Amino acid sequence: MKYGNSTMLASARANFDRASVLLSDEFPSDLLQKLRHPKERSEFRLAPQFSDGKIHSIDAFIVRHSDAIGPCKGGIRMSPMVTLDDVTALAMEMTWKCALIGVPFGGGKSGIVADPLKLSPDDKQTLIRSFTRNARGNIHPLIYVPAPDMGTNERDMGHIKDTISYSLGCATTQGSYVTGKPIIMGGIPGRREATGRGVVLSTMEALTTLGGGLKGARIIIQGFGNVGAGAAETFVELGAKVVGVSDVDEAIYDANGLNVAALLAHVRKTNSLRGAGQGQVVSHDALLEMPCDVLAPCATANQITSKNAERIQAKIIAEGANGPTSPDADVILNQRGVYVIPDILCNAGGVFVSYLEYTQETQQEQMSREEVLIRMDKRMKDKFKLVHDTAKSRKLPTREAAMYLALRNVCSALIARGALP
Ligand code: NAD
Repeated sequence: MKYGNSTMLASARANFDRASVLLSDEFPSDLLQKLRHPKERSEFRLAPQFSDGKIHSIDAFIVRHSDAIGPCKGGIRMSPMVTLDDVTALAMEMTWKCALIGVPFGGGKSGIVADPLKLSPDDKQTLIRSFTRNARGNIHPLIYVPAPDMGTNERDMGHIKDTISYSLGCATTQGSYVTGKPIIMGGIPGRREATGRGVVLSTMEALTTLGGGLKGARIIIQGFGNVGAGAAETFVELGAKVVGVSDVDEAIYDANGLNVAALLAHVRKTNSLRGAGQGQVVSHDALLEMPCDVLAPCATANQITSKNAERIQAKIIAEGANGPTSPDADVILNQRGVYVIPDILCNAGGVFVSYLEYTQETQQEQMSREEVLIRMDKRMKDKFKLVHDTAKSRKLPTREAAMYLALRNVCSALIARGALP
């Protein structure tokens, strides 16, 4: 398999290599090496006809990294910058996340190379339907089950389900082909806020572990989309003070705390933090280094690197985004005693609730928001404790402890399945 020079993939493999050393006494090296590569990488050339009447040529990818534990699960990223290697890195992360949080899924991911902000709602719908038709052989409850990721949302997931049920000539699908759908189409209450809420819950556990609490804690959040805005709302609800936020357009800071409800209303109206009229506008880079207790990167990969890790003032990094911290920054943060809640734990609330949606739909059941949140809160707390205790007992950084636990589960599944020709 040939790879390009994706920073995300390099980071994902460096994290894998660190963890596989820890397991070299328990599992054979060829078994571990198998997991360094994805099982399957598919490329598609979509040709949707947009409302300008023209046929557009758009690349898309699906990567299935491992299905040792179950069907591959992972979101669809729509971005003009997404590459096949990035999607490979993200699929790999999903394998570890599902194995760590304890849901019966493997890791997968999709990418669509397009800018969602430049597409009209109708054209985005056409593109999502084109992706679904082309990837129809890959999307299946027992093969690969997509969900929202950066640039895609609940509405898009509804269009995926509709495209598949339409192609089957049925009113609906049998089993769960996609999660993160609108509730009226078989989605589950609590999914929209699940990832952000999981970020807050794991932060709360980390603060308690360090001898404090969430009340009054100063939080900076990078990214104000599904994860970041959801986390901001829950942080405030539970008594923390959001002092800084950013999106792709603007970064703002107010040591006295921002009015998150007003920011949410502004973003709902304008799709941007620009012109929100609150706090002091700072540069995107500067925001990460402003005074706070918790820094929650909830936007994109590779934001905390060896270039800024020394200057970060937070005592906790809560990784809402996938891969926001580079491996060399990890070393610096560890030396400085910064507590990192690794992405495969911190943002796993989303995939856990996706699993509840999958089982609800498979069994044609219905779950209430309360049931969903009780189950998710317990799972996040239990897994936080497991990772924290493992890090302590094995004297490991938290990311290595989480990776060790995840990789051990995937290797155990491979052993249990046995060798196939
Ligand atoms: P989204 O598209 O809803 O929001 C992304 C936000 O980040 C937007 O506000 C955007 O303006 C902002 N942003 C992008 N680049 C930025 C930059 N350089 N600086 C500051 N802000 C920037 O995406 P999302 O679903 O919230 O996902 C965010 C991250 O969380 C991604 O890394 C994704 O893989 C990860 N994640 C998402 C989920 C989920 O359930 N949606 C689950 C697990 C992990």
